[in-house]
Amino acid sequence: MKGKRGLILGVANNRSIAWGIAKACHAQGAELAFTYQGDALERRVRPLAAEVGGHVVGHCDVTDPATMDAVFAETEKLFGKIDFVLHAIAFSDKDELTGRYVDTTEGNFTKSLLISCYSFTAIAQRAEKLMVDGGSLLTLTYYGAEKWMPHYNVMGVAKAALEASVRYLAADLGPKNIRVNAISAGPIKTLAASGIGDFRYILKWNEYNSPLRRTVTIDEVGDAGMYFMSDLSRGVTGEIHHVDAGYHVVGMKNPYAPDI
Ligand code: NAD
Repeated sequence: MKGKRGLILGVANNRSIAWGIAKACHAQGAELAFTYQGDALERRVRPLAAEVGGHVVGHCDVTDPATMDAVFAETEKLFGKIDFVLHAIAFSDKDELTGRYVDTTEGNFTKSLLISCYSFTAIAQRAEKLMVDGGSLLTLTYYGAEKWMPHYNVMGVAKAALEASVRYLAADLGPKNIRVNAISAGPIKTLAASGIGDFRYILKWNEYNSPLRRTVTIDEVGDAGMYFMSDLSRGVTGEIHHVDAGYHVVGMKNPYAPDI
């Protein structure tokens, strides 16, 4: 990826999936710019960016369009054109990531869909202008978009909409050689995941029942992310690629799995 330059949105700390992808892109020679959400995360993101010789282009809260404009303006100043953008952003009120989906409030529904789904389109609008030689846009999704998962609730609905938007964005931007894909990652213990009810149970269930009999790491998702950001995937767009130890092909509980 020597000579490629990309913007990474969604690093919170060194357990973030975005960090796994950033490390893999850096290892192949890409030059990176990072955003952070708020002062508390800035303190975590700055040293991580320095570790990979990257740049920090500022605070970005996707509920505030002015901050998105500002980080893209800063990225343009820094890089001129860009080759890839990672969107690894999601949010729902923790109180609604437990219990029943039917109890979702209008306020949290709107906020979750804005942050977890629409923001990818908002980012794509801004990225398109800087991807003058084509490019790659990547987002992160989860199997809870396809099937019911306990506690995932409004986030499952947001991810389903996000996956549909990958296909629509791929069709819109394909003629400019801008590719749009998503990785559907298996469960990983991150800051965002800690808000999901019974997350330890979900991790164990995946470990016992996935074909590889384990969960995945941010480095494994990172390597797949690097493939999407690089020319290795130049013929691929509109794809939802599972990096989940094969869990999505399983139709039934492994009868030999221990009790959880
Ligand atoms: P994480 O907590 O490390 O990252 C989530 C990021 O979202 C944070 O950097 C946070 O700052 C950012 N964010 C939240 N609201 C924002 C806002 N309003 N504006 C800007 N940024 C905002 O957790 P993660 O698990 O690495 O999450 C990254 C992505 O991966 C998310 O889309 C998540 O849904 C997805 N994902 C996670 C898992 C998992 O099990 N961890 C599985 C599949 C998909």
